[in-house]
Amino acid sequence: MRIARFSIDGNVAFGAVEGTETVPDGLVIDIIKGVPFADFELSGTKVPLSKVRLLPPVLPSKVVAIGRNYAAHAAELGNEVPDSPWAFFKPSTSVIGPGDPIVYPSFSSEVHHEAELAVVIGRMCREVPRERVKDVILGYTCANDVTARDTQRAEKQWARAKGFDSSCPLGPWIETGLDLAAASDLAITATVNGELRQAGRTSEMVNGIEALIVSITEAMTLLPGDVVLTGTPAGVGPLNVGDEVAVSIEGIGTLTNKVIKRG
Ligand code: MG
Repeated sequence: MRIARFSIDGNVAFGAVEGTETVPDGLVIDIIKGVPFADFELSGTKVPLSKVRLLPPVLPSKVVAIGRNYAAHAAELGNEVPDSPWAFFKPSTSVIGPGDPIVYPSFSSEVHHEAELAVVIGRMCREVPRERVKDVILGYTCANDVTARDTQRAEKQWARAKGFDSSCPLGPWIETGLDLAAASDLAITATVNGELRQAGRTSEMVNGIEALIVSITEAMTLLPGDVVLTGTPAGVGPLNVGDEVAVSIEGIGTLTNKVIKRG
């Protein structure tokens, strides 16, 4: 099931996206009664996707992101792969939804895209053993770990470089139908203005999804709706004002955002 969060006529709701993208107006949303983090029912009330505004599919209390988790990406920036997963935070205020603008930060002149598989947590959890990881995952979505690369090089902590407003596009929806094995071998790409920049597979992760969740929850509690970004494949590169960047993941969908100047 594809679970979207959306607004219509000033109301915010979750819904299940049904139908097919290949037909114009072929997608509809069946509105969910309640929230997807508990047992829920579909209302049967359906609205065309074209009539709603998609929002970030979750409002995470935190986004935990992993650095240098694809060897080819670590190498392209002249870095070594760390011995164990390197986690950092992107704040809740960095999250935007599909179609929302990435606002170019005033303090940077080198902003990069990073296409990433995002894991959406479904239940409160800590110290999750490897065999229980599948039970704490609600589903998967696309993410762009937008990064001020010059700031990242200049500052030891990445809070500004990777935490500025609009630096965490998520969406377009949460795919709940992928099991761990499927999610661990998906094609992932980034295009800028239609030109292919990044192309990899989630199977190239140095530490896989299970190892990442085990490592993160050794240290902290994850809450329903929290998001784990799993690292980016090679091919990161600059975004400029006016660019349209799209992150696509096989079996999930495409997350598109435009870069705008700070107003
Ligand atoms: Mg990243």
